[in-house]
Amino acid sequence: MGSSSVFENVQEVYRRMSHAALRAGRSPEEVKLVAVTKTVSVAWMKVAFDAGLRVFGENRVQEARGKRPALEALIDTGAGPLRIEWHLVGHLQRNKARAAVGLFDLVHSLDSGQLADELNRSAELAAKVQDVLIEVKLSPEETKHGVSRNELADLINTVKSMRHLNVRGLMTVPPFCDDPEEARPYFRELRGLRDEARSEGFDLPELSMGMSQDFEVAIEEGATMVRVGTAIFGERRL
Ligand SMILES: *Cc1c(COP(=O)(O)O)cnc(C)c1O
Repeated sequence: MGSSSVFENVQEVYRRMSHAALRAGRSPEEVKLVAVTKTVSVAWMKVAFDAGLRVFGENRVQEARGKRPALEALIDTGAGPLRIEWHLVGHLQRNKARAAVGLFDLVHSLDSGQLADELNRSAELAAKVQDVLIEVKLSPEETKHGVSRNELADLINTVKSMRHLNVRGLMTVPPFCDDPEEARPYFRELRGLRDEARSEGFDLPELSMGMSQDFEVAIEEGATMVRVGTAIFGERRL
C-alpha cells in the first residue's frame, strides 16, 4: 500500500464515520477515531499523522515503548494541535502496568480488580491519574478478555474508589463475523450496561466499540471511540 492510499483511507474512514453518526442523529464530533497501529511501522504512522490522525492505539506495551519515541522524533510534538494521544487497546498483563502508565493516555482493557490495583499503585508512583475503560466480555470465546456482565458492577465500584484511576467508560470486542449486523446486538448491550451504570450514578461517557469491519454499526449504536486498523493501513502481515 502506498502512502497516498493511507492518506485516502483516513479521509474515507472519516467520511464513513460522519455518515454513520448523521444517520443516527448524532454529531460526527462525538466520535473519536483511534488508529490501531499494531505491526504498522513508524513511517506509516507519520503518514497517518500527516493525514490528520492524532490518536494511536497499540496492542502491546513493548511495541509502543519503541514506537512512541520514534514517532515523536519524526514530529516536532509539543502542545497544541501536534499533541498525540496514545491508547492501549490490547490486553494488559499485571507486570506491565507500570510501563503502561508511563506510556498511555488511556488504557481500554482494564478487566480485573488485581490489574486495577496494580495500575492504581503505578499511577500513584508516577503522580498521575490514569484514565481507563473497563473491557467487557459479552461473548463466550476463550480467546477473549474482559470482565463478565455479572462482575461489571463490582469492578466499576472498585475502580471508582481508587484515587489514581479515572474510569471513563466501557470497551468491548465482539466476535468476528463477516456481516457487521451480527455485531449490533453486542454494541447495543454494551450501551445498555453503560446506561444501567449511569442510572446508578456512575458517569461513564465513553463507549469504545467498532473496528474496521463494523465501526459504522458501532457508531449507530452509540460508540464514542472506534478502533480502526485494517481500513486505514491495509491487511496486517503477522
Ligand atoms: C487490532 C485491533 C483493532 C483493529 O482491528 P481492525 O480490524 O484492523 O480494524 C481494534 N481493537 C483491538 C482490541 C484490536 O486488537
